[in-house]
Formats: sequence, C-alpha cells, structure tokens
Amino acid sequence: MHYKEIGFVNTKEMFRRAYEGGYAVPAYNFINMEQLQAIVAACMESRSPVILQASKRVRQYVGREFMKSMSRAAIELIRQSDTPIPCALHLDHGDSLEECKRSIEDGFSSVMIDGSALPLDENIRVTKNVVDYAHEFDVTVEGELGVLSGLEDDVTREKSRYTDPSSVEEFVDKTGVDSLAVSIGTAHGVTKVKLKPGESWPSLRFDILKEIEIKIPGFPIVLHGSSSISQEYTDMVNKYGGNIQGAVGIPEEQIRKACRSCVCKVNIATDSLLVMTAVIRKILHEDTTVFDPRKYIGPARDELVKMYIKKNKEVLGSAYKA
Ligand SMILES: [Zn+2]
Repeated sequence: MHYKEIGFVNTKEMFRRAYEGGYAVPAYNFINMEQLQAIVAACMESRSPVILQASKRVRQYVGREFMKSMSRAAIELIRQSDTPIPCALHLDHGDSLEECKRSIEDGFSSVMIDGSALPLDENIRVTKNVVDYAHEFDVTVEGELGVLSGLEDDVTREKSRYTDPSSVEEFVDKTGVDSLAVSIGTAHGVTKVKLKPGESWPSLRFDILKEIEIKIPGFPIVLHGSSSISQEYTDMVNKYGGNIQGAVGIPEEQIRKACRSCVCKVNIATDSLLVMTAVIRKILHEDTTVFDPRKYIGPARDELVKMYIKKNKEVLGSAYKA
C-alpha cells in the first residue's frame, strides 16, 4: 500500500521546516515493538516530527509482515491524536534498488540508498536509479557521500573517509537526491572514537560541514551514527555484569551545534539499544526472582521514552515543532 494511504509523509516538508527553524528531525531506529512504542509516545508528548527508521537487517529480523503491521499501528496511534505529528517511515542503509522497491511497496515514505563505499561515478549511477524510481511514488531519497567508521561496513576509523565537499554539488545535481548523509566524524556503533587516557573528544569537522553548506545552500544534510553513549548507561551496564569498555559517543552539544546549521536529520540507534540493555541488566541483577519479561522490558521502555524526549528537547531542538 502507498504510504500516503497509510498516513505517513515523506521528508520534504519536514526538512524544509527544520532547515528554516535551525533544528533537526530525529530519525530513531527501532528493532522491536517496545522501542517503536517508546519513540511514538515520546515524540507525541514532546510534539516533535519524527522519522521511524529501520535497516534492511532489522526488516529481516522483524519480518516483512510484522514490520508492516507495527509501522501501521504506530501511525494509527498518531492519527488518533487531536493534533497528529508528522511521521515518516524510512529505510536506513538500503543497499539495492530491489530493497528500496520492496520498502516502498510496504509503505515506506523515504529510503536511503547507500552507495558510499563505491567510487563517485558508480555511487551517482546507483543512487540516481533509486531516485528515478522512488520519485514516481513521491518517496524521498537519502544518498551518502563519504564513509563513516563503525559497524555499518566494518571499516575502522583509520579507513573512514570524510566527505569531500568538492563532490557534493555534482552528486546532488546528477542524482536528484532529497537529502545527503555526510561523514564529518560521527560513527556507527558503541565506540565512536578510541581515546587515549586523558584525551578529550576531538571535534566534529564543522569546517567540512560549512564547506558543504556553501556548496549546496539550503540542502538538507543528514548525520548518521550520532548517539551520545551516555556514561550513565555504560556505567550501569558494566556495574550489573556487562562489559562494554571504551564506549565513547558524540558529545550532545556538538550534535546540537550541527542541528543549528544545515543538518536536518540525525540518526540515533545505539543510544536506545544501550538504554534498554542497561535497565534490563539492572533489574535482573537486583531481583533474581523476576521471570516475567514485562517486568524488565516495560521499565526499559519507560526509560526510552524519557531519553527520546530529552533528545528532542535538548539535543535536536525538534520538540514543539510538529
Ligand atoms: Zn547509518
């Protein structure tokens, strides 16, 4: 079914308003029902536009039918409210035209085609094919230039490649994409950067971001891998039997700064995985008699709601912009 019949919107108007308003729309990844419920509850409560986001691997994990049903349940809940918030359903890291086609068939209103590992000409060709197809259905497309470190493609930070500002104009012109993910120092996964003892977090490359903005003024930029990996939660994981060492995220004030400029979409996935794990570990550790999953997944969901609201209000600036 087409996304408009279901009630989703594409990202065009969302990004236009975010650009003008100096904030970014949250793109929260979800992997299960409780996370999705928390995202919807938090964004409705803080009156934030939202992009619900699922990767190919998650679509496989959840299964195509459940993905369709869960996303429809989410939008139904939003539509029932007196003042519905704009909500998009986005494919994260689509790797082929086929995958994008299937997502559009299933009601996705926006897709990413990630050709960032390819040479520029090849990336342009692959991305343009998806744009030509998706635009027939008024589905918006995100492309990517530059390579992030982290889990996405098993590259290390040493192999990561910042976006070259001199190619963004050509890429955007030739492909017709609606938004562009760039690499300016954010990273996928729980360890965004390896710090030596006493070393503080290096700044995101705001100089590169500025150059990109000058080349393509008014064009919506996307940041992937933007979790902050709060020490509070990594400490909680480690205190209650876990072992996550050297986890370092992106300082929230740097993300906030990026959102005030051309960045219109910020992807946050790892923070929510970490929060769930931390809360569940704590509860199972403190009460060894618990056997009902609602007793630990429920509180994890409550904690997620708080975290998402805080992100919308204090980091992305998207609260009360719906
Ligand atoms: Zn990503």
